[in-house]
Amino acid sequence: MTDLHLTTLTCLRCTTETPHELRYAGRLLVASRCNACGHEMTTADPHRYLLDLGHRAASKPRRMLRRLRRDPGAFLWTLPAAIAVKPVKLARELAIVVRVTEQRRGGWRPDRS
Ligand SMILES: [Zn+2]
Repeated sequence: MTDLHLTTLTCLRCTTETPHELRYAGRLLVASRCNACGHEMTTADPHRYLLDLGHRAASKPRRMLRRLRRDPGAFLWTLPAAIAVKPVKLARELAIVVRVTEQRRGGWRPDRS
């Protein structure tokens, strides 16, 4: 899952339906940005993210076993790449939470990446 999604929402500032960028950290929505006026809303909460990360980690063995039972060949074929990429994905999620939290506190401005 990529962390950036595009959708159409009604902007609170524009009061019209406009394209919005939604940024996720794992399963949690942490920021939205109106592409028309640039209005941003953030919901980043490091505690909430860590709680969700704990739930994801706890359910990982069960989810992996379900995938293994469903399609053993595909599971084993994709497992090495999934293991290799996981630290990068977690680091990226954490970076998003830190960046959006800092932005929310009035510090670091987003670089739009
Ligand atoms: Zn707007």
